[in-house]
Amino acid sequence: MASTLVGKQAVVIGAGMGGLAAAGALADFFDQVVVLERDTLPSEPAHRAGTPQARHVHALLLSGQRALSELFTGFEQDLARAGAVPLRVGLDVRMERPNYDPFPQRDLGWFSYAVSRPTIERVVRRRVESRANITLRQHCRVEKLLASPNGETVSGVRYENDNGASETIATDLVVDASGSGALTLDLLQSTGRPLPEESTIGIDLGYATCVFAIPDDAPTDWKGVMTFGQAPHDSRGGLMLPLEGNRWMATIGGRHGDVPSGDAEGFLAYARALRTPTIYNAISQAERLGGIARYGFRESVRRHFERLDEFPRGLLPIADAICRFNPVYGQGMSVAAQEACLLRTLLGRLAGDSNPIAALAPTFFAEMQTLIETPWAVATLDFVFPETRGQRPADFETALKFGIALTRLAAEDPAVHKLTAEVQNLLRPRSAYRDPTLVRRVMAIMAET
Ligand SMILES: Cc1cc2nc3c(=O)[nH]c(=O)nc-3n(C[C@H](O)[C@H](O)[C@H](O)COP(=O)(O)OP(=O)(O)OC[C@H]3O[C@@H](n4cnc5c(N)ncnc54)[C@H](O)[C@@H]3O)c2cc1C
Repeated sequence: MASTLVGKQAVVIGAGMGGLAAAGALADFFDQVVVLERDTLPSEPAHRAGTPQARHVHALLLSGQRALSELFTGFEQDLARAGAVPLRVGLDVRMERPNYDPFPQRDLGWFSYAVSRPTIERVVRRRVESRANITLRQHCRVEKLLASPNGETVSGVRYENDNGASETIATDLVVDASGSGALTLDLLQSTGRPLPEESTIGIDLGYATCVFAIPDDAPTDWKGVMTFGQAPHDSRGGLMLPLEGNRWMATIGGRHGDVPSGDAEGFLAYARALRTPTIYNAISQAERLGGIARYGFRESVRRHFERLDEFPRGLLPIADAICRFNPVYGQGMSVAAQEACLLRTLLGRLAGDSNPIAALAPTFFAEMQTLIETPWAVATLDFVFPETRGQRPADFETALKFGIALTRLAAEDPAVHKLTAEVQNLLRPRSAYRDPTLVRRVMAIMAET
């Protein structure tokens, strides 16, 4: 292992999905990895203040499942043992789209898992805790990145410990997996460096979520349902998936003010007004377990760190600190895990270099663009709603028509259905749609309509 070492110590800010995955990636390349988390980390799956989004449906795409399995061998078995519900991709979740109620249900040959976000996190955290050279420290709120006066090199962090006292820790590398990336931006600003440019897609999404006991007479032709509204007039949608413990979690929501209220009656009324009655019919008589959680999500944000001429040595933002996606597409955790795999690959490649830490951030920012291209392109689908704010892609109308025709082809042809599922699960890039034969077939459908 000595020959692959990149540094003595790495510090990760945040024990969310990005931080845990990053710690798994760093552990082979540093003597010690310390993860600092401001929250209490529960010993059992439970909600915590630092990740309010965890009260809502968290779908783990196949790419995320694979990336986490790569970082933590046996991850899928751990999930299954924790009660995650296996789902046959393409078959077990009823997809309801305009003109397809439902979209043809076919077994595409893979299993995914439906499970609550606190359980996914707990499963990964256990794996992280079992690594001898990773230390997870809870109740440690990082206050500041410690850097040279010009911000050229980051050499540690200052944090507030359990007792409210300030401590510092010296480190070769700081990975900012705080979700907000605020400490990274503060450092750039306070040292007079330019902030990364941002691309934003303003969607003003409002979510409400409730958990139900699955009734004995639940439908047997699906385990989950996803219902889309009739864009661009109706932005309402719903996703209901099973959870460990024979429960359903139903998340419903809409945009630009058309959002559910936080009471049980309002929740049911909103569910009843979805384009199809499937979710409402399933939950209207089901036992509600707990209250309604709400979440407002203003915009998808992509920070272009790759465009900066320089970046502080010894610092690397990751996951939501770089890019936050509209949660409707269920991409955030999977992209975070894929970025951690990229980090591991790069550390392996740079380990023999004379100054691997100096090369790390620029290489990471450059190479992650390929990884982020497809999920960001998915997020731009939000421009189908005229109220969406931001830079609408120039070819959006054509892309939309292509997408509609591709969906029709996927409904007719299982092989195309499988391809679209691979792209949606971030197993393949969207460039797979540029295959000349596929393009010809899609264009033929476009010409008919
Ligand atoms: C409503 C909603 C639903 C979503 N649904 C899905 C979904 O279905 N599928 C999916 O893949 N993704 C989903 N996401 C996205 C997903 O939650 C995030 O992309 C993912 O958690 C990113 O991980 P992260 O590590 O960047 O941030 P987080 O997981 O949010 O973790 C950040 C951590 O940093 C800690 N922290 C912050 N500041 C400090 C500090 N100063 N010191 C110490 N600790 C700190 C926080 O307490 C937290 O533990 C959803 C998001 C939202 C908002």
